[in-house]
Amino acid sequence: MLYRPSIRWALVHPDFEHEMIDGSFVPQQIESLGIQGVPSIIADSKLLHSGRISFLDLIVKLEAFFGTIAANTSSANIDLGAFEVVVIGGGPAGTSAAIYSARKGLKTALLAERFGGQVQDTKGIENLISIPYTEGPELAAHLREHLTAYPVTLFEQRRVAKVDIKLDTNELAGKPISKWLKNPP
Ligand SMILES: Cc1cc2nc3c(=O)[nH]c(=O)nc-3n(C[C@H](O)[C@H](O)[C@H](O)COP(=O)(O)OP(=O)(O)OC[C@H]3O[C@@H](n4cnc5c(N)ncnc54)[C@H](O)[C@@H]3O)c2cc1C
Repeated sequence: MLYRPSIRWALVHPDFEHEMIDGSFVPQQIESLGIQGVPSIIADSKLLHSGRISFLDLIVKLEAFFGTIAANTSSANIDLGAFEVVVIGGGPAGTSAAIYSARKGLKTALLAERFGGQVQDTKGIENLISIPYTEGPELAAHLREHLTAYPVTLFEQRRVAKVDIKLDTNELAGKPISKWLKNPP
């Protein structure tokens, strides 16, 4: 079964190559690259990331490393729409707030730099009552599943830089969002 992103990308994109090596046969190479776990992402002989990572987080890391083409980032100044409730933050708190807002029939959006929040960095979680043991990425996946069961518009990988509270309109600005208008109910 093909499941590694690098294999998939190599299959569909001519700019990607995939080489599979068995670390037990080339321990010197593993040591020189500083690989301690899999999957490991290496760019220009530098360890870019080790361990599980979401596709969006990986894109952000790759963009930070390789840079982006200015022409392709022109979508930065788009209006993402108007909502009655905009929740900033996609951890457990923000997810709950968005779900409850949607359950009350409010037009809701959730905007998060990193969906799942700190939960994504947590290994074992043993104090969530009724769930004796879970792990961060699994809990984050359940948060996402629960959220997407409701009509909540999810904006990921966006950082709010500024919130302007006005009399009849609230505006949120940030990256890659530059302007977001909220109409009064
Ligand atoms: C390593 C680790 C282990 C932990 N283990 C446990 C445990 O076993 N049990 C336990 O109960 N708790 C544990 N915690 C704590 C728990 O994860 C937090 O209490 C919980 O995640 C807080 O949830 P939250 O939604 O309030 O905030 P967070 O999870 O911090 O989420 C904040 C959200 O806001 C977003 N955000 C922040 N600023 C902006 C911005 N400007 N624009 C857009 N988005 C923004 C973030 O991207 C994120 O989505 C652990 C935390 C860590 C780091």
